[in-house]
Amino acid sequence: MQSPAPELTNPSVTDQINAILPQTQCGQCSYKGCKPYAEAIASGQADINQCPPGGDEGILALANLLGLAPKPLNPAFGEHKPDQVAFIVEEDCIGCVKCIAACPVDAIIGAAKLMHTVIAAECTGCELCLAPCPVDCIVLQPVSLMPSPEQKSERKRLSMRRYEARLQRKENEAIEKAERLKKQKAALLQKQIINHSV
Ligand code: SF4
Ligand code: SF4
Ligand code: SF4
Repeated sequence: MQSPAPELTNPSVTDQINAILPQTQCGQCSYKGCKPYAEAIASGQADINQCPPGGDEGILALANLLGLAPKPLNPAFGEHKPDQVAFIVEEDCIGCVKCIAACPVDAIIGAAKLMHTVIAAECTGCELCLAPCPVDCIVLQPVSLMPSPEQKSERKRLSMRRYEARLQRKENEAIEKAERLKKQKAALLQKQIINHSV
């Protein structure tokens, strides 16, 4: 029987670091998500104490993984807060869709000019939807029931999948847009050539 590829049996250091990170995808570490921060730690470009949602527990786990001494969270990146979830005051929502564009894990549903709602089970509490809302109708509430360690791990996996799916979708959209523009330019050029030749 053929052996599985090494990368399937031995997760890379980046993947091991990423598995420790909380998957809040908030960007407070100064990277665009947990995976880019994991890559920066793995390549020695970032320190292990830049993730406020992970707090001291996360720093300790990273230090143990990498054989480093733990250190306090760097306050320049923010402070550790209890788990929270976003809630939209629906009667105030004007349906501008700005929060949907900001959410890194697609946890908000709604359409233009219609009220929006946060899917609480998918919200990481990252706060990225607050600033873009023009009517300040998004509030953060503490998580009422503390998840078990198993539920926490499952939520991290879900967040990782949703974040990656969103990145893939945005990449596909960018490729489609570039192809559309290319076709439009080619059609325009063709038209100019025809007009010039008559
Ligand atoms: S949870 Fe936020 S601060 Fe922590 S690694 Fe992920 S994106 Fe960075
Ligand atoms: S709904 Fe808001 S707080 Fe929740 S994950 Fe999306 S952007 Fe972050
Ligand atoms: S940004 Fe605010 S007003 Fe706009 S759709 Fe989202 S919740 Fe509604």
